[in-house]
Amino acid sequence: MIPALRRPKVLTSNNSPIKFMILTLKNGKKLVVSSDSFHSIMNIEHKYNCMVCKTEFDFDDEHKANHKKLETHKQKLTLYPHKEDFEENLIRQLDTETCYCTICGVSLSTHSLMRHLSAGVHKMELIKAKNRAYTYKPLE
Ligand SMILES: [Zn+2]
Ligand SMILES: [Zn+2]
Repeated sequence: MIPALRRPKVLTSNNSPIKFMILTLKNGKKLVVSSDSFHSIMNIEHKYNCMVCKTEFDFDDEHKANHKKLETHKQKLTLYPHKEDFEENLIRQLDTETCYCTICGVSLSTHSLMRHLSAGVHKMELIKAKNRAYTYKPLE
């Protein structure tokens, strides 16, 4: 049973609600993650960091939206796809030493990846991403 629909909690960054997006996996499963996580954009010390581009820019929503539209950024996302071996865990391999977990929106070292995947925090985020798929409604 899916729990009764409640109003999703709106978290804010720069006072604007988090945008979510739905991803359909090859096996047909659906996951809903935040747009920032999908784009591998992290908020670190009042700056935004794009993990696939390895760039940092101002903590500004408009700037962030523009970054997501950049061709170079889109190319990087295809260059570092979610690894098929990890399926719904949505792991991008950024370089030999660094991975990015789209489910949790965190970057981590490759050697700690297996520990991360079996950790409670990651499992909880994965459940949330799956559950959001039942209640997700596109904005337009
Ligand atoms: Zn980028
Ligand atoms: Zn994770």
